[in-house]
Amino acid sequence: MIIKPSIRSNFFTNAHPLGCKQNIINQIQEAKMLPKFQGPKNVLIIGGSSGYGLASRIALAYGADANTISVSFENEPKGSKTGSAGWWNNIYFQQLAKETNHIHKDFIGDAFSPDMKQKVVNYIKGHVGKIDLVIYSLASGGRLNYQTNELIRSHIKTIGEDAIGKTIDIVKKEIYDLTVTSANEQEIIDTVYVMGGSDWYDWMKILDESEVLNQQAKTISYTYIGGPTTEKIYRGGTLGKAKEDLEKHSQIIHEMMQKKYQGEALISSSKAVTTKASVFIPQMTIYVSCLYDVMTRHHVHESILKHKYRLFSDMVYGNQRILDEQGRVRLDHLEMDPKIQEETIRLMTTSTNEELLSLEGTHMFLREFYQINGFEFEEINYEEDVPLDHLSQLIPN
Ligand code: NAD
Repeated sequence: MIIKPSIRSNFFTNAHPLGCKQNIINQIQEAKMLPKFQGPKNVLIIGGSSGYGLASRIALAYGADANTISVSFENEPKGSKTGSAGWWNNIYFQQLAKETNHIHKDFIGDAFSPDMKQKVVNYIKGHVGKIDLVIYSLASGGRLNYQTNELIRSHIKTIGEDAIGKTIDIVKKEIYDLTVTSANEQEIIDTVYVMGGSDWYDWMKILDESEVLNQQAKTISYTYIGGPTTEKIYRGGTLGKAKEDLEKHSQIIHEMMQKKYQGEALISSSKAVTTKASVFIPQMTIYVSCLYDVMTRHHVHESILKHKYRLFSDMVYGNQRILDEQGRVRLDHLEMDPKIQEETIRLMTTSTNEELLSLEGTHMFLREFYQINGFEFEEINYEEDVPLDHLSQLIPN
């Protein structure tokens, strides 16, 4: 099968398996170039198949020689459907990481479900003993409430008044205005239910009650703070409310971790990177593009792998932790540097749409947006037949 990008309303409906493999190869190569550090032995990642969860997995598997267990929700290939990028990321991570001679296990299914939590606990007991680090890196549009059987959806909305901002049509490579309406009370509650901290808490509770956490165990989840240009829609909107809830839960979890394990629960504010959802958040694509442009020019741009490697080597297990007054780990300090912010805002507000589209930062953003689905890698010949039937026999371990 020849696989070309299939994009509907700015959303990829397919992925290129060999491009996904290239993405894993590149991140592993980057990780191998970085010095090893003393880190956790056994790591559980909720949401380890893409984005920040995947980069964390690779950084720890190669940087700290960790065993990794990941839970993710991904689609397998079926008939003419290629399967999701995360499905292939899991397969190729498994294949390539065999060289580490460590345990790497994938669970595919709903992390919100009590059954999945129990399955993971059973596996930990049978195969790795106890966990040293739990990374909660879930991003989901919905969460099934297992008590009522109701599917609750999250919403990317403002609170108070509607907002208009620019985004990029990734097929036509054009900039257009995207309006986001304001949320009602229920939509705020629902978004907090899906993207807030209650499921992180549930995971930590079952891991604690099942006695599979090691002394000095740590857990971490990722928040985003950002600057004034994304404030109205992100931090001041429904997603911001969910992040406040996540941060609130980190304090509750921290007390338990400290008391019982002399461990800790952390929130890290990570840098804005290219993600599937970026194009649906007005201003986010333009902000990320301009930010990439400015940070690259100032030689402080980091790949997603390096960002997460630095989090663990310097700030979680090293002695270079930067905390804000609320105790959050500020891995985003390079993005939030006043000089970088000022220049990024200036670029965003004084450039015409044409100028924005021609920025190197915008090219980087668009390239990465395609690459997270396995497209636009120079190493891959996209005219070549992909033996999908054959590859479909592969399943993650
Ligand atoms: P992503 O979409 O790349 O990855 C999400 C992961 O969650 C995937 O592994 C997916 O399979 C998994 N997942 C989703 N629903 C699931 C379910 N029901 N059961 C099991 N697994 C499920 O997301 P990302 O951009 O890496 O974001 C991860 C976290 O980092 C989020 O909390 C996000 O808010 C935060 N964050 C992201 C950015 C950014 O710019 N991308 C910045 C700061 C913080």
